[in-house]
Amino acid sequence: MTVERPADLVLVGGRAATMDPARSWATALAIRDGRIVAVGDDRAIRSFVGPRSRVIEARGRTVAPGFGDAHVHPVHGGLARLRCELHGARGRETYLAIVAAYAATHPTELWIRGGGWQMDDFPGGVPERATLDRVAPDRPVFLESRDGHSAWVNSRTLELAGITAETPDPVDGRIDRDADGNPVGGLQEGAMDLVGRLLPETTGDELTAALRLGQAELHSLGITNWQDAIVSPGKEERAYTELAGRGALSGRVVGALWWERARGADQIDELVERRASTAVGRYRPTSVKIMQDGVLENFTGAVLEPYLGKDGRPTANRGLSQVDPESLKGYVALLDSLGFQPHFHAIGERAVRESLDAVEAARQANGMTDTRPHIAHIQVIHPDDVPRFRDLAVVANAQPYWACHDGQMDNLTVPFLGPERSGWQYAFRSLRAAGATLAMGSDWSVSTANPLLEMEVAVTRVSDLSRGEQPPFLPDERIELIDALAAFTAGTAWVNHLERELGSLEVGKTGDFVVLDRDLFDRSAGAIGEARVVGTFIDGAPVFEDPVLEG
Ligand SMILES: [Zn+2]
Repeated sequence: MTVERPADLVLVGGRAATMDPARSWATALAIRDGRIVAVGDDRAIRSFVGPRSRVIEARGRTVAPGFGDAHVHPVHGGLARLRCELHGARGRETYLAIVAAYAATHPTELWIRGGGWQMDDFPGGVPERATLDRVAPDRPVFLESRDGHSAWVNSRTLELAGITAETPDPVDGRIDRDADGNPVGGLQEGAMDLVGRLLPETTGDELTAALRLGQAELHSLGITNWQDAIVSPGKEERAYTELAGRGALSGRVVGALWWERARGADQIDELVERRASTAVGRYRPTSVKIMQDGVLENFTGAVLEPYLGKDGRPTANRGLSQVDPESLKGYVALLDSLGFQPHFHAIGERAVRESLDAVEAARQANGMTDTRPHIAHIQVIHPDDVPRFRDLAVVANAQPYWACHDGQMDNLTVPFLGPERSGWQYAFRSLRAAGATLAMGSDWSVSTANPLLEMEVAVTRVSDLSRGEQPPFLPDERIELIDALAAFTAGTAWVNHLERELGSLEVGKTGDFVVLDRDLFDRSAGAIGEARVVGTFIDGAPVFEDPVLEG
């Protein structure tokens, strides 16, 4: 039997996790005019094969809805590839060798810029200008840390920026200093801006090239939709409007417009205007990103009880609330009433609480809306706040790749949080148990954009870098693979307001799906993160494909 109108693409012989509400499984699907027209068993679906249909024999491999990433920086990731790239490298000497090689091969660049270093590769987490001066003495160097919260600079840069022992710390940051107050080469948070304003403007061509690279990387990892977690005018915004305007943005993207903390409510009219004027093609700037604190490793994460010192005793430091919590309530209520989705960055348990309090204020002012506020990172959540995610319908936007033992966790985080609070980290299972909606993402270029590596940590709490070497980190918070997959498909679709279009393999939805190189759920087939994507399809057309899929 054949159907009247054959499909454009028919996939058979797969193990398809449909991620529909019943979490049902299928072996085959058919796509016509970009939409799924049938999901089921091979015999039924083969009837959709016509003379011009493409047929994919999936040979028992996992098929899943296209992955989503709920918090990612593809322009930044692409720019890193274009510049002095330290992501993926480890160790100070390796970094210095890369910088030296970059300087030698880019003799005409006025600034050496790039980044991707990790704090725990430096004594006390603080990078020093002296080593950098050795390999790059005459040109200014500005290298951001892997998480983007610190910069490593050389003496030439400090000189150009006029940063000396007399320069006061800005209110929202810190200049790392020696005992005499002299800057040593590390700039934390807002102190990075002292140099940032001197950097040459990134050109439009560089931005567009970076987004192209970023998009290709995400597609190669199975990602078909994402939320860009920082969109600023003239930067990411320019890249998206340019690429989407040409019809070259294949990914479906929600842009989170950057909230400038110095400007307050004055900027809201402008956000409304940008939402209307810059939406084009597959790019929709409907979210607003509010950074509520920094990170724990440099003590800028906002915590309820003070950080501990090296001696294990409480310090006076409770980190930084980047937006005054009372003002935050007003801003969030206003943004929510205007239909913007609040997207918070919150790492410490006080920043998480302040974000939840702000949503609570918005709910009181506006009632329940459909803006789907989400809090990204949620590294430490006070146990009292875990149930509030469900109560307030706040999506828990987790970056699971960080939920493991590594130098950053064991040397720069746990000792300063203390034992009780350290146990409140990355509470994925507790959030699920409390009924929270879970979405996941990478925060690439902070860490890998590969959802399979991230799912592995969500499930095992051990990273691919220390398989078999490290014990699981807080193993009670492990979640099941199907729940991790849901967070990267249905969960991200939900947070991006795309659940009617994608996030599951169901009739009527877009033909966005991935094919892996194996059955991901066969635990004898190796580690989850060892699996590879061999095909990524959007609207039934490949945006990434490995030849193995034809074979
Ligand atoms: Zn981020």
